[in-house]
Amino acid sequence: MRLKEYLIDSLMNLTSDGIVIVDVHGAVLEVNKKFEELHGWTRDEVIGTILPMVLEQDKADALQLYQSLINGEPIKNFEAIKLRKDGSTFYASVTVSPVKNNDGLVIGFVGVERDISERKKAEDELLEREKQFRKLLKLNPEPIVLHKDGFIQFVNDACCKLFGGASSDDFKGKSIYEFFCPADKNLIVARLQQVMQTDQDNYSEFFERKMRKFDGTFFDAEISSIYVYKNMGNPVVQSVIRDLTERKKSEEAIIRSEKLSLIGQLAAGIAHDIRNPLTSLKGFVQLLKTRNTDYVDVMMEELEHINYVVNEFMTLAKPHLNYYIESKVLELVQSVIGFLQPHAHLYNVQIQLELDQEIPIISCNPDQIKQVLINVLKNAIESMESGGLIHISFRNSFQQALVISIKDQGIGISEERLTQLGEPFFTTKANGTGLGLMVCKRIIEGHGGKLTILSKINQGTTVEIELPVTSIEK
Ligand code: ADP
Ligand code: MG
Repeated sequence: MRLKEYLIDSLMNLTSDGIVIVDVHGAVLEVNKKFEELHGWTRDEVIGTILPMVLEQDKADALQLYQSLINGEPIKNFEAIKLRKDGSTFYASVTVSPVKNNDGLVIGFVGVERDISERKKAEDELLEREKQFRKLLKLNPEPIVLHKDGFIQFVNDACCKLFGGASSDDFKGKSIYEFFCPADKNLIVARLQQVMQTDQDNYSEFFERKMRKFDGTFFDAEISSIYVYKNMGNPVVQSVIRDLTERKKSEEAIIRSEKLSLIGQLAAGIAHDIRNPLTSLKGFVQLLKTRNTDYVDVMMEELEHINYVVNEFMTLAKPHLNYYIESKVLELVQSVIGFLQPHAHLYNVQIQLELDQEIPIISCNPDQIKQVLINVLKNAIESMESGGLIHISFRNSFQQALVISIKDQGIGISEERLTQLGEPFFTTKANGTGLGLMVCKRIIEGHGGKLTILSKINQGTTVEIELPVTSIEK
């Protein structure tokens, strides 16, 4: 018997948890050394007393727990603030088990307390750091959102304003996907996955997407995400969302102004082209006065040509349509060739179109594609001071893209200049803008395509315009 008592006693005092055994009324029957240590009471002080171990504010909760204990249900790992003899407190994780007699009646309780102050302190510190971190973000001019598992945890003021929220509460508990097009969800999920898997310092490249405001309207945005920290096992991701509306507007303005300057530069050729048929018209009309013959046919032809040139001129000057339609690229190319014929005449340049295969239908903005073709062809014409040939051909690239290749026999571009192309304001022409190729690149990239320039000095230049294909023309 003595041995058993000795063993129980050592067991009580070997554990690193505080143990207290009380009867049904809460009077202490036994405590271990750790309990004495945790609370600052000695065993002799507490035996037979009812200890004031909970704070006033927790009394109601404690009473409820006591009720379930009386009913025989244990309490496991309950986090509570515990009192010490000197009135100070500590955090403990508490497990209380009812002890029953042979008849199943509860006759007492065994309480086990584990000191978790350190952990709590670390948690509080983390929370405090999180608070500071959010404060840092709050007034950041870039719209920022923190999200975990796709759910919004925090938005800063700029983000709230961008999406038209009244306050950050409007975002609470919402999924980030509500702010994207439903079709983009998989893409975003994949991107976030990548961000979370890679190194913490890795952020995703900014990528463009349409996003939705609270009022349901969509706007152009670019988004980049970075993994920030773990919160309860799940990575918190910070995304920066930039509004591209203004940038898009100024890009469009550049495209428009380049178009206008193009038209201005072409005006000379066009005026020339209109003047020529007009001169012959005048002559024939004068002749008609004397004899009534079939010069009228020629007159009609010339008139139609004037009409064509003027019409094309007008379409070019019209504002861009801002949407894509299924377009026949061949027709676009042919109409641009017709339109540039006068300019080509001025330079003594022939334009040759090679047609040896089906040309697919492309979903595009036809006005913009025309603008690109005019830019590129005009450059090609102007590269041949003493005349020459421009060869236009088409190539299917793996059935996925159509490549329009425009090859001239002009002066070519040196290697160092080649690297500068596409930069704004680089021009070698007296009346050039140096915006043409930059605008072409923007337009083609906006279509998901690519513009490539190959050139050899004094041999000529080939410009390849690659556009993704939607369907094959029947
Ligand atoms: P711009 O035609 O107004 O000068 P671009 O951006 O269209 O502006 O072209 C920039 C420069 O690139 C031209 O000034 C010219 O030097 C060079 N370039 C473009 N295309 C060709 C070409 N096909 N052959 C030779 N040089 C070219
Ligand atoms: Mg040009």
